[in-house]
Amino acid sequence: KAGRLADELGYNLYIVGGFVRDLLLERINLDLDLVVEGEGIEFAKTLAHKLNGDLDIYRDFGTAVVDLDNVKLDIATTRIEYYPYTASLPEVEPGSIQQDLFRRDFTINALAIQLNPTAFGQLVDYFNGKKDLEAGVIHLLHNFSLYDDPTRIFRAFRFASRYGYQFYEETERLIKQAIDLDTIEKLSPNRLFGKLKHGLQDENPTSFIRLLVKYDILVYFSDSLVWNQVKEKLVKQVDKIIGWAMKKEQNIEFTPWILYLMTLLEHFTKEEVEKFSKKFNLNSQLKSRIKTSLEIEQIITKLKQAERNSEVYYTLEGLKIEELLFILVKDFSLTEKISLFLEELKEVEIKVSGKDIIDLGYQPGPYFKQILKEVKRAKLDGKIDSTP
Ligand code: ATP
Repeated sequence: KAGRLADELGYNLYIVGGFVRDLLLERINLDLDLVVEGEGIEFAKTLAHKLNGDLDIYRDFGTAVVDLDNVKLDIATTRIEYYPYTASLPEVEPGSIQQDLFRRDFTINALAIQLNPTAFGQLVDYFNGKKDLEAGVIHLLHNFSLYDDPTRIFRAFRFASRYGYQFYEETERLIKQAIDLDTIEKLSPNRLFGKLKHGLQDENPTSFIRLLVKYDILVYFSDSLVWNQVKEKLVKQVDKIIGWAMKKEQNIEFTPWILYLMTLLEHFTKEEVEKFSKKFNLNSQLKSRIKTSLEIEQIITKLKQAERNSEVYYTLEGLKIEELLFILVKDFSLTEKISLFLEELKEVEIKVSGKDIIDLGYQPGPYFKQILKEVKRAKLDGKIDSTP
């Protein structure tokens, strides 16, 4: 329908970017980015009207989103981009589909498929993107690309690790050159951390981290971020623990990328964590996870000594799921105790309350808390009947 509408308006309409790349790789990608050789916003308005969809217009960016019941379409006018200085926002003006594809990052992301009925399904491939996809190479479209937008270095790492691709020789040289010239310094801390997070959230964080190491990028996050055999082993362990947690019958909800971050920072001192959290403006949840990872050795020692259920419980009580999993990253031999806590002990509740004790004629006081804790301890250790 969109293609027919484009014909009626005299526009060429294409689907571009990640969707096309992943279609050729036979992967699912639900990001539908459409570009129009014509008036993108006008086209979006008419389309939303015809299909009864919701419309959001972003005039500053010259883009619009049409929200249909089960799909969302990002619509833009084909355009040329100019970057006035490194890492700036681009200035844009309308251009042809070829120019629109040329402003993109890599050849594999510069593919389009036409949607007008007369040419429906035709692949538009000016820069040999299909060939690079088949060969498994990440190939920058132009030489100044990484100066215009240094975040593309991280995009290159993300795609290389996700698909197991290599860098095209010239691209690798450009990446090294851009890094040597400190282009990454031009990114604000927020953007920089965002790129790290994005990479750690992608499909192969371990390989992404290895690329950060290989190209000496960790230092932009902190001088204290060192890499060694221990870290290499821990990161592999994170992969294993995530697999373990996902396979558990009981549905464990956790945020995997945080485990990689905790691992990267686990050798930090308190001061280094403070500095890192401040620099990247980390929220309190993230900061508290990282802080716990500093204390993990003590927790592990205590947990190893814990014999009774109540000792396990009171060692782990209050820890967040990523913190519990991080214990296993450091010491996989503790799986039984962590499973016991997650599957049984965490759920144990006692039915006695402070009010029950008052009803027995005792004066309220701080010792109530102690009593209730003792009751819970007894229940955890099976000393009182837990059947209702
Ligand atoms: P992912 O699968 O990670 O979402 P994607 O390629 O779909 O990858 P998007 O960020 O949704 O990534 O971008 C859509 C398209 O926009 C890309 O395929 C690429 O053509 C272009 N693009 C995105 N970011 C940049 C960038 N920083 N520089 C140049 N082109 C970009």
